[in-house]
Amino acid sequence: DGPVYPDDAPASTQLLARAREVIPGGVNSPVRAFRSVGGTPRFMERAQGPWLWDADGRRYLDLVCSWGPMILGHGHPDVRAAVLEAAEGSFSFGMPTAREVALAEEIVARVDPVEQVRLVSSGTEATMSAIRLARGATGRSVVVKFAGCYHGHVDALLASAGSGVATFGLPDSPGVPASAAGETIVLPYNDVAALEATFAERGSEIAAVITEAAAGNMGVVPPAPGFTDALRRVSAEHGALLVSDEVMTGFRCSPSGWFGLEGEPAGGAPDLFTFGKVMGGGFPAAAFGGRADLMAQLAPEGPVYQAGTLSGNPVAAAAGLATLQRCTDEVYQRLDEVSEALAAAVTDSFTRHGIPHRIQWAGSMFSVFLREGAVSSYDDAKDQDAELFGRFFHAMLRRGVHLPPSCFEAWFVSAAHDDEAVEHAVAAIEASAAEVA
Ligand code: PMP
Repeated sequence: DGPVYPDDAPASTQLLARAREVIPGGVNSPVRAFRSVGGTPRFMERAQGPWLWDADGRRYLDLVCSWGPMILGHGHPDVRAAVLEAAEGSFSFGMPTAREVALAEEIVARVDPVEQVRLVSSGTEATMSAIRLARGATGRSVVVKFAGCYHGHVDALLASAGSGVATFGLPDSPGVPASAAGETIVLPYNDVAALEATFAERGSEIAAVITEAAAGNMGVVPPAPGFTDALRRVSAEHGALLVSDEVMTGFRCSPSGWFGLEGEPAGGAPDLFTFGKVMGGGFPAAAFGGRADLMAQLAPEGPVYQAGTLSGNPVAAAAGLATLQRCTDEVYQRLDEVSEALAAAVTDSFTRHGIPHRIQWAGSMFSVFLREGAVSSYDDAKDQDAELFGRFFHAMLRRGVHLPPSCFEAWFVSAAHDDEAVEHAVAAIEASAAEVA
């Protein structure tokens, strides 16, 4: 067992106090605050490959990877070079550039049903815009989403959301007008009967069904066999669109995403897809896309308005393109190896120390539920030992491993997680399991 850091992190504690004066909770995205695991969030200073260094100069193995984007690890030399080269040209033109065309071409080439994409700056913007397009195209307003799925903080999509909403156990958020919430129907994930019943009753009002291609924001809960097919069949029967949110899974679960693993649903591909995270390479870039006839409804071709000052930003596009171009078969193979090694270590150590657990997968994306038995819905996911997770999280942090600070999040690895990184994690998992059992 290697060095063990103390629980207090003086430099981060000081920065957090300063931050709290000027930023709500001291953070710019709630899950960063360590509320559910307790303690002080580590302020980061730099990172290289799979390693992070915090303001106290401590080194951590990164199993957050910026919540997905850093699939090649931090500071990949080719991505860095592409970013620097783009930055030399200008940070933003507010006019089209070749780079954003190349990024759009790369996405279209990777995801078969996607003929056109519109680039935006965050996953939230991507899902918000996809929903607007679906509403515009169908002339309907109701959206169906699934409990535990997170699609960003879009008014209509916050109800029963995963990620931070799950972590904090928040009810539907204040600030979302009843009129917006009233246009959203929340159904249990993986429940085809509930879907069919809802469409039988209100099918003619429903513009779209939005789903995480494989859920990752309540922990990893892949669609049960036949669920995606049912989404396609039932939505099509009623003239509603199917929006597959691949912000997290896109370009991570496979060269295309979950779509590439599960294949096209019986009855045809989803109508719209949303992407983010990996395709921005760590910069603010995201996209939504689909069939050309549907995308043609967007301004300036069509009447559905959507825009962005920084959309297709040249530096972000350069980072995203360089990242995607380097997402080769070898990269996906390494993601598999690393996540399998980590999951095997969890199974081994948790079993040895009598810690009930369940590991679930979507490609190389996985999460660890502190409970026994399959998790197929948000209710299942909530039924786990969050207190134990908090203790395990801190045991890992003391041993220099930075897990996502919530039991509702996937563990993210990168292709830069080398054997040293894996060995470090495996040793920390064993020691932490022994400590918290
Ligand atoms: N959709 C999914 C599936 C996500 O995982 C996320 C973010 N975790 C979003 C949308 C929102 O993306 P962003 O945080 O970039 O707005």
